[in-house]
Amino acid sequence: MTERYDHFINGQHSAPVGGEYFASTNPATLDVLYEAARGTAEDVDRAVAAATEAFRNPLWRDLSATRRGHLLRRLGDLVAENAEELALQETEDNGKLLREMRGQLAGLPEYLYYYAGLADKVQGSQIPTSSLQVLNYTQREPLGVVGAITPWNSPLTLTTSKLAPALAAGNTLVIKPSEYTSRTILRFAELTVEAGFPDGVVNVVTGMGAEAGAALVDHPGIAKISFTGSTATGARIAASTASRFIGCTLELGGKSPNIVFDDADVDNAAMGVVAGIFAAAGQTCIAGSRVFAHRSVYEELLEKVSARAQSIVIGDPRDKATELGPLAFQDQLDKVSSYVRLGVDEGATVATGGSRPATDLAGYFFEPTVLTGVDNGMRVVREEIFGPVAAVMPFDTEEEVLGLANDTQYGLAAGVWTQNLARAHRMARRLDAGTVWVNTYRAMSPMSPRQGFKSSGVGIEHGLESMHEYTRLKSVWINTDEGPVADPFTLRS
Ligand code: NAD
Repeated sequence: MTERYDHFINGQHSAPVGGEYFASTNPATLDVLYEAARGTAEDVDRAVAAATEAFRNPLWRDLSATRRGHLLRRLGDLVAENAEELALQETEDNGKLLREMRGQLAGLPEYLYYYAGLADKVQGSQIPTSSLQVLNYTQREPLGVVGAITPWNSPLTLTTSKLAPALAAGNTLVIKPSEYTSRTILRFAELTVEAGFPDGVVNVVTGMGAEAGAALVDHPGIAKISFTGSTATGARIAASTASRFIGCTLELGGKSPNIVFDDADVDNAAMGVVAGIFAAAGQTCIAGSRVFAHRSVYEELLEKVSARAQSIVIGDPRDKATELGPLAFQDQLDKVSSYVRLGVDEGATVATGGSRPATDLAGYFFEPTVLTGVDNGMRVVREEIFGPVAAVMPFDTEEEVLGLANDTQYGLAAGVWTQNLARAHRMARRLDAGTVWVNTYRAMSPMSPRQGFKSSGVGIEHGLESMHEYTRLKSVWINTDEGPVADPFTLRS
């Protein structure tokens, strides 16, 4: 019988009120892996009630920031102990390479240790107002119940990017994971209880975006929504949270440029282009899906990228030799295939790839694909494909490529390949993207803040700055003068 997973509410597994479950499938083999509870508004209601109760509970409310840090550190240790099992489950759920998920899981405790250390370093300040008789200071307080909604492509990493600072700051959470990757988030919630977090501090409601997700976003008991996912869903969340005057952090889609200058080390740049678009089968928000190559190195780069694309080993993501696994689900495969067809209809040439590869596996595989003969007006260059499809274009001048790179609704990341130091700094300054990599790509650390510009997001994740996303600032005024009030009808300072 297929294994079944319930919600995790108030420290316990909890069956869905509606009694319904949905299947989760391995995208490499199409085997059904397990069933997860199909959450409804009633389940969300129960989870928000548990998180609200936990937020008020002295067991959590009165815990010092240092103690919260200890709990996060313990959680980091538990994640490290369970890393192998969690990595394998994530690979089975979303089809990403096991070696990539092992790497992510091995790095995950660092996120928790980093915010464990920050928990008791979030400080207010004393403000020298114009009156010596007044002591004015600020303090940072937790917000309350945070709703965290996450995608399938890096489930635990992207959830931890929210959970770690939110818990370090003293909030409680209701998490709605992607319907494609429920199981590791449920296990992670169990580990929070093992680590010593009180019941109800971390809750998980699994299910569909339009059902459990929308119910969480619209719930009146939520103090903030922290979301990672598509720009279309982000826009809905922004509208809902704005109308209720609650905050949101949104990490959204991208169409990132990866720019190769004539002074670059072309071999390295070609590997950077491959890493940018074919790693994780292009299913990363930061995919370098628009490749701009200086005309003098365009042919050489294209040849090197195409040759490497053709030699990429496609297969079971659990195998050591595999370099490209399947896309995560049928809609992803349909979307990527239809974008390649659309590109050809728009006049693009398929330099390599473009169809489904021959493999022994039944899953949603798609070849690493390079499109040429494209320009910034085409939909394949303007819209996020979220698959292994690179659009490669030549350019002549720095000014021209800056204009082309910035001509997009997105602003998540950008790559620059050059040996010219002055140019590297000029490009970093003028590229309209929240992250700029020079002579590297897909580098990430919990210590380094990241933010999507334009339609790629609102607010900051990672780094010191993200602690402020989960706190609110209070200004306290203490009158130290015991004399009579001189004039009650004027402003005081
Ligand atoms: P998605 O927007 O379809 O889903 C993300 C999450 O939102 C899922 O949990 C889903 O169930 C939920 N959801 C869907 N509709 C909802 C609604 N109406 N109300 C509330 N919740 C809803 O995105 P996806 O396909 O899971 O992920 C891929 C997208 O995520 C890509 O656009 C990618 O660029 C983006 N992404 C961004 C980052 C980043 O840090 N900027 C990281 C990873 C992925």
